[in-house]
Amino acid sequence: MQVRVTTADAVKSIPEDVTRRLEETVGPTHVTTADTDLREAGADWWPLGIVWQTDGDQPSLPAVVVRPGSADEVASVLAVANASLIPVTPFAGRSGVCGGSLPVRGGISLDLRRLDRIIEVDSTDLMVHVEAGVFGPPLEDTLRAEGVTVGHYPQSFDLATVGGWIACRGAGQLSNRYGKIEDMLLGLEVALANGSIMRTNPQPRAATGPDLMRLFVGAEGTLGVITSAWLKLWPAPAADARRAWSFDTFADGLEAMRRIMRTGTRPACVRLYDGPESARHFGTGDTRNAMIVLSEGDAAQVELEIAAVEEVVAGFGAAVSPEDSGLVDVWLEHRNDVSALHEVVERGIVVDTIEIAAPWSKLAAIYEETQAAVLGVDATLICTAHASHAYKSGGCVYFTFAGVPGDDRAAKDAYYRSVWDTAMSRVRAGGGTISHHHGIGLVRARFLREELGAGFDVLTAVKHALDPNGILNPGKLGLDGPVWPA
Ligand SMILES: Cc1cc2nc3c(=O)[nH]c(=O)nc-3n(C[C@H](O)[C@H](O)[C@H](O)COP(=O)(O)OP(=O)(O)OC[C@H]3O[C@@H](n4cnc5c(N)ncnc54)[C@H](O)[C@@H]3O)c2cc1C
Repeated sequence: MQVRVTTADAVKSIPEDVTRRLEETVGPTHVTTADTDLREAGADWWPLGIVWQTDGDQPSLPAVVVRPGSADEVASVLAVANASLIPVTPFAGRSGVCGGSLPVRGGISLDLRRLDRIIEVDSTDLMVHVEAGVFGPPLEDTLRAEGVTVGHYPQSFDLATVGGWIACRGAGQLSNRYGKIEDMLLGLEVALANGSIMRTNPQPRAATGPDLMRLFVGAEGTLGVITSAWLKLWPAPAADARRAWSFDTFADGLEAMRRIMRTGTRPACVRLYDGPESARHFGTGDTRNAMIVLSEGDAAQVELEIAAVEEVVAGFGAAVSPEDSGLVDVWLEHRNDVSALHEVVERGIVVDTIEIAAPWSKLAAIYEETQAAVLGVDATLICTAHASHAYKSGGCVYFTFAGVPGDDRAAKDAYYRSVWDTAMSRVRAGGGTISHHHGIGLVRARFLREELGAGFDVLTAVKHALDPNGILNPGKLGLDGPVWPA
């Protein structure tokens, strides 16, 4: 079964009566067709989209941007759109790197940034109820003032919203301690395509049938629009400790990460950089593989964690050298600096990152084989990597590639596509999964059916049940056939 958007092509204009109903719903000032607003809604951080924009092309624009201010308004907008078969693409921070918020079928871009209230901070039950359009900094500033934290720190902390974190199934840099976004969720409020609202009961745990809340985690706005969430809180950390080492080989460093995770301790951050990335980020020799460790929490726990890590690392003998723990300070200072991307693209370089996950037994081989394969794609300049997240069973490797395929737009597209095809097939053949935390959007849409197998039909059936007219973020997750490449 394939879900099809019932609108044949991109919806480039909205009938007057529908515009009137949208204006009645959210107020006329929150319905806009201004060129700058349409162009803003038609752009995110998908690097190929940035290449296109830099070359003066923005292929997907909405017909209108609608800015609801409450869950009820979101639901009403969906009801209007559903009745008129108009596509709705939710967006907020537009920091997605897979093209997920691009309105590839036009229609309504639903701007969720007015849902910006932190509704309740409960430091007894360690729970915050927050609207979907709240960005990282105001959320954490409010929480830290109360002595608590969610602990979700993606590199895009300043750029992304709570709803986007959940919709993309994100992972923060301190996730070893605080968990990924799905671990943080206690409850969810979602507006559905038919205009109704589903609220799950925020409880520490419930055995009340399948976990409906998690259906929307990673759905990228294709199944419903997240309007608010209840997230777990932690006491803000009182102490921290920082350590750094470098390993002879990336594989040795991965093995150390594996053993650290087996100790049962959870240092907030353990990251391993391959030689070129170590040199790039920390100025270490480009054959050494730097590992940084940050432990935070209360003093006794931090002491235990660091002792456990040191014991593991000592087992690597001559293959490891202690590095200045100032490397962690360097990382903390520069970790969210992403200013270079647009400048790099302007120089004609095609660049992107590809994060994947695999069991420990397969990860080192996947790293080596994928890197070699991407370096083998014509026009590739670099393919480097770091391991950014670790578990007892495996970890995430995060590749960065860059190439100069020439000025021609078609050549850039072909190069980009070729690298992704190469990397995805290597990762799958090696026994890994195609995404760890950036999600699917457009860029991975054509790989999802193979990745999910029969699960893709289940997902399609769920989509059909919740959104029979296919109005919600059409073209994403490969649910109505891959949109890119055409
Ligand atoms: C420099 C940089 C670094 C990054 N680092 C990380 C990282 O460390 N970890 C990580 O996980 N990600 C990272 N990302 C990716 C991105 O920031 C995340 O995917 C983020 O969660 C997207 O949130 P957003 O508010 O920007 O969503 P948008 O980009 O606006 O939307 C992304 C997708 O979610 C959907 N969506 C947005 N809001 C809602 C909602 N309320 N309800 C339903 N669907 C919705 C959109 O339709 C779209 O499909 C990074 C991105 C950049 C540019």
